[in-house]
Amino acid sequence: MQTVLFTSTIFGPIHSRRLGTSLGVNLMPNDGKICSFDCLYCEAGYNAQGPGTTGVSKREEVRRALKNKLQAMKEAGQALDVITFSGNGEPTLHPNFKEIVHDVVNLRNQYYPEAKVSVLSNATMAGKPSVMAALKQVDNNILKLDSAVARTMRLINRPVSPNVLPDGIIEDLKAYGGKCIVQTMMVRGEHDGEIVDNTTDAEIDALINAYLAIKPREIMLYTIDRKTPEQKLVKVPVEDLKRIARHIESETGITVQVTG
Ligand code: SF4
Repeated sequence: MQTVLFTSTIFGPIHSRRLGTSLGVNLMPNDGKICSFDCLYCEAGYNAQGPGTTGVSKREEVRRALKNKLQAMKEAGQALDVITFSGNGEPTLHPNFKEIVHDVVNLRNQYYPEAKVSVLSNATMAGKPSVMAALKQVDNNILKLDSAVARTMRLINRPVSPNVLPDGIIEDLKAYGGKCIVQTMMVRGEHDGEIVDNTTDAEIDALINAYLAIKPREIMLYTIDRKTPEQKLVKVPVEDLKRIARHIESETGITVQVTG
């Protein structure tokens, strides 16, 4: 089984297709995964690998490790575009997420004031007041919505809780008043004998209605890039992504960024 990608709390800098030169912050265990979704395409592997032994990162450890890394990068004259919360699971599940975001924003201001702070979140905790307060502090609040159709969302994202449905997530994202970016992973293939495809006309129509309700400042469409736990998934060709993006833009008036 594919296992976690990140073996430390601070990782990189790496070149991100969507974000540029990015220093990663992994709040989840360094040898396991904790997520409220269990996506077929998760680069960190399935939740079945377990949460590991290290536990979630402690607030003070994150602050110290990030400070040391930023100081070393600054002294070496390295450029930095963005500090990104991602890693082995869902960062907003961390009990001190709000406080850690506060620390990270302060360190960014001290060492690389021109760099952005981004959070990649699956949006399952987006309605929690402390998470919302934290996400409103960051430059790029990037929230996942892969499908607005319950059956498809549950097939692709496989939420741990049976109560997580697209309608609830869309309601939570509306409360951000447009201060968010919605990212949608476009994927085709098969899982357990079921067709996986969130690029059909019906799927795109449902997403357009969701985007119109949420009114994000931007939409990011992308597709798989690395090995996925479900091996029967395929990349969506970039021409298809661009065609879908043009259609969404013309229906919503919202800028759509494509990463193929
Ligand atoms: S939400 Fe992100 S971390 Fe969680 S399973 Fe999906 S891709 Fe992996």
